[in-house]
Amino acid sequence: MSRTLRVGVIGGGIGGAALAGALAQQGIEVRLFERASAFGEVGAGIQMTPNAVKVLRALGLGDALADVAFLPQAIVGRDWETARESFRTPLAGVCEELYGAPFFHVHRADLHHILTTIVPSDAARLSTTCVDVRQEDDKAVAVFEDGSEFEADLIVGADGVRSVVRAKLFGQEAPRFTGNMCFRAVVPFDAMPAFVSPDSSFWLGPHAHVVTYYVRRGKAVNIVAVAETENWVEESWHAKSSREELLATFEGWHPNLQRLFERADSVFKWGLFDRDPMTEWSRGNITLLGDACHPMLPFLSQGAAMAIEDGYVLAKSLGAHGNDIASALRDYQAERLPRTRRVQLESRARGKTYHLPSAFAQRKRDLIYKFKSYLNPQASGIQANWVYAYSATDFAPRALAAA
Ligand SMILES: Cc1cc2nc3c(=O)[nH]c(=O)nc-3n(C[C@H](O)[C@H](O)[C@H](O)COP(=O)(O)OP(=O)(O)OC[C@H]3O[C@@H](n4cnc5c(N)ncnc54)[C@H](O)[C@@H]3O)c2cc1C
Repeated sequence: MSRTLRVGVIGGGIGGAALAGALAQQGIEVRLFERASAFGEVGAGIQMTPNAVKVLRALGLGDALADVAFLPQAIVGRDWETARESFRTPLAGVCEELYGAPFFHVHRADLHHILTTIVPSDAARLSTTCVDVRQEDDKAVAVFEDGSEFEADLIVGADGVRSVVRAKLFGQEAPRFTGNMCFRAVVPFDAMPAFVSPDSSFWLGPHAHVVTYYVRRGKAVNIVAVAETENWVEESWHAKSSREELLATFEGWHPNLQRLFERADSVFKWGLFDRDPMTEWSRGNITLLGDACHPMLPFLSQGAAMAIEDGYVLAKSLGAHGNDIASALRDYQAERLPRTRRVQLESRARGKTYHLPSAFAQRKRDLIYKFKSYLNPQASGIQANWVYAYSATDFAPRALAAA
């Protein structure tokens, strides 16, 4: 007779919280270990694309998300200097029909809070840093900084791009600095200003691009301003920059952006790192999820979405396979690895298209956008319709599929 599984999740970010909530909904015992002293997320926005929203709805979080989110009209490509539109991909009123869920913009802290509402209240251990993991017979053990240990049927490393669990399983290897850094800021507004359109705006310029969008039901604008650099940038959500540095880096860009940047009181900077796709994620009773196994450039806005999808699929696979951890991990990886690999590689490729240096190359790219938009606006611009069409909620573990 199968007994209740016990799963330990290392890392309580967006991926770890989504997994813990999904496991609890499968009736699986879960413990979540987070090194920070409090749950929370940085002050930044995040695009929750239809593929992620489908999962959040399946977890029962659809209404809570819609309550705090902003519904953008379109994804719009704009020239960095003139604001001339190069593509327009309609979203509001279209995504539900095309992909089965809307496209939302949300504040990361709001999203994380929503996810923690489905994590059992006694499941989380804060201020707990994992330093090692090991296989022991048919169990996995996580070891923490204070010397304490936790034994479970499965340990999942959801501990981000510098994952300790990944290093212990597959060896230490530094993530790759991609030659891009980004500035991030959230600018509050009492009312939506006329100089920020209600879209996800992609301002494309030479060696750089800027994405702006509303969060918090239009009460704030999120800025992600990416610039190529040879200088190493500290990788932290908390590396301080300044309004002056942001304005200086994007000098000469469109006046609407300058007006927005001038209102940014608190600016952070962040080096962008990724890794090559892996060929496997698991060893014995230990596996990985989210940025720990597939960190990616944010150019398709998919890192958190992929982590949420992973969490849902892994929980469903474990729920279906009972005590057969090996089969559960086999189905999890078979479902998730090819998809995340493609998203990782295409995210990298987008950086090159967004940052074309010469006016001639930009013109040529924009003409291609125009032509593709004419055929199908969903398949132009950032070209992510194939990402949004996927439904993790359709995942059928083999045990169920065969039944
Ligand atoms: C500029 C930018 C914009 C982005 N925009 C989007 C977007 O619009 N849409 C989208 O879907 N994604 C976006 N992303 C990607 C997204 O932020 C990440 O992919 C996502 O946060 C990954 O979630 P995660 O849970 O795997 O890892 P993380 O969010 O890194 O969480 C890891 C957690 O593990 C904890 N931890 C680490 N080590 C340990 C340890 N040893 N012991 C215990 N706990 C530990 C950390 O404190 C953290 O809480 C963006 C990323 C960037 C940089």
